[in-house]
Amino acid sequence: MIIAIDGPAASGKGTIARRLAAHYGLPHLDTGLLYRAVGAGALEKAVDFEDVDTLAALAGALDLSALDPESLRAGPIGEAASRVAAIPEVRAKLLMLQQEFAHQPGGAVLDGRDIGTVIAPDAPVKIFVTATPEARAARRHKELVGRGEDVTPESVLDDIRKRDQRDSSRSSAPLIAAADAEIIDNTALDVAASVAAALAIAERRRPR
Ligand code: C5P
Repeated sequence: MIIAIDGPAASGKGTIARRLAAHYGLPHLDTGLLYRAVGAGALEKAVDFEDVDTLAALAGALDLSALDPESLRAGPIGEAASRVAAIPEVRAKLLMLQQEFAHQPGGAVLDGRDIGTVIAPDAPVKIFVTATPEARAARRHKELVGRGEDVTPESVLDDIRKRDQRDSSRSSAPLIAAADAEIIDNTALDVAASVAAALAIAERRRPR
């Protein structure tokens, strides 16, 4: 069974994906890490964000087993990830990797922006998780401060709005709910209630 979870930054889709993966005993891939790794590589090597060939080569050389989630989740990398993610040649390099993960025997849980629309349109369980930009910014601010980053609530909200705008308006695999996805707006829900809502959807839609 493939479970596709999409949604904007800091919507809580990663937490939901991890919980569903644990519940069903399925492997989980946070696909944002792939774009973050390309973005981090570009920052590290000072690659110009217009240099499509070099960015696509970075994407083509990614090794799933070598990703370090802890360092890739740092604040500035999100912005770089969203810039490289708007480049069709970068997305093309990461497509097969994600489709192979999704279609491994037994199934998988993937979270991202285009799982239900592009990576696994055949997934029986599709959930689109969202919340207001203010609610998401408050969560992300708390998380970044907890990691020791020196950020203001305003700068985090600004980053979230910028990323929403870029992710939703790009021509290649924009952030959009699949027509057959079920939507969870968790603005007023805590983690337990969000996870329970997702589990109820998965139970209803999973093949038996
Ligand atoms: O989910 P996360 O915030 O870690 O993703 C970082 C960036 O990677 C997003 O802002 C988005 O631009 C990009 N992304 C994407 N498609 C995915 C996952 C992430 O375009 N499936």
